Amino acid sequence: RAAQNIEAGFLFYSEEMNRRAKEHLRIESELRHAIGNDELALYYQPKVSLRSGRIVGAEALLRWRHPERGLMTPAVFIPVAEESGLILDLGAWVLEHACRQISAWRAAGLSMPPIAINLSARQFDAGLPARIAAVLERHGVQPEQLNLEITESLLVRGTEHVVAIMNELVAMGMSLALDDFGTGYSSLAYLKKFPISTLKIDRSFVIGLPFEENDCAIARAIVTMAQQLRQEIVAEGVETPEQMRFLRELGCDQLQGYLFSPPVPEADFAAMLHEGKRLAFETLP
Ligand code: C2E
Ligand code: MG
Ligand code: MG
Ligand code: MG
Repeated sequence: RAAQNIEAGFLFYSEEMNRRAKEHLRIESELRHAIGNDELALYYQPKVSLRSGRIVGAEALLRWRHPERGLMTPAVFIPVAEESGLILDLGAWVLEHACRQISAWRAAGLSMPPIAINLSARQFDAGLPARIAAVLERHGVQPEQLNLEITESLLVRGTEHVVAIMNELVAMGMSLALDDFGTGYSSLAYLKKFPISTLKIDRSFVIGLPFEENDCAIARAIVTMAQQLRQEIVAEGVETPEQMRFLRELGCDQLQGYLFSPPVPEADFAAMLHEGKRLAFETLP
């Protein structure tokens, strides 16, 4: 019986692997098609100042308007893109479209805060600064208008090579933010080596605020450290007034989360900027 069970388990396991491999391949080929076929979109999620309540930035987040499966979030397709190398084409698409959009908004007279895009570690090669410079120039966008979000995986891989590329990007006028901070392996010693101006506290530490003691301790430690290193600090995934109040009292600089706005299509973001939407501290319960 034991042997039978093992055999059945193996059969199940290999069928599951097979199913996943097929699903993977299907997403890969559909995604390749999507890039050239106008199925991708950028949504924008505002970052607001915890001092003024004003919108001081936004993050561009990739969406896939799949003809059958509807609006797909990156969790489904970014891992496939990373594995297949398609992330390079996706990354180029995002850079191009973010710059085109910034340029269009400016032409329409909107006063724009910096817009952040997410970079995959795979995009980080010696040619990156020149590729970005070419796109900025083509759209007449100043480098200060563009923020770059990177993850700890890049730092851990962190060679002198990576540091040199980062220094080049910063020298051009762009600023670097470390995304999902606290989930990877980077330490204080790591942070010192890299020209990073902003830390984004990962949502997983924000969820438990202000009721989970451990999350409070972690948030407090990150904010204190960031202040010592003179880095800006952004809290991700803020959903409740209680979380906001805790972070504000800690001295966190900015908040990004559903409490203020989810990621929205470009027209909705432009409308928020236009009307000067603000986080109203005093009216929160
Ligand atoms: P991320 O860069 O950490 O982006 C923040 C994610 O948190 C976004 O998920 C956003 O929708 C979500 N979020 C923001 N506020 C809240 C909140 O209050 N509650 C909850 N539950 N979630 C919130 P999204 O858009 O699904 O993106 C997931 C990840 O995919 C991103 O995490 C980023 O790592 C990656 N990604 C997105 N766009 C790109 C891209 O253009 N290039 C690359 N390489 N990666 C991207
Ligand atoms: Mg990000
Ligand atoms: Mg993040
Ligand atoms: Mg995250």
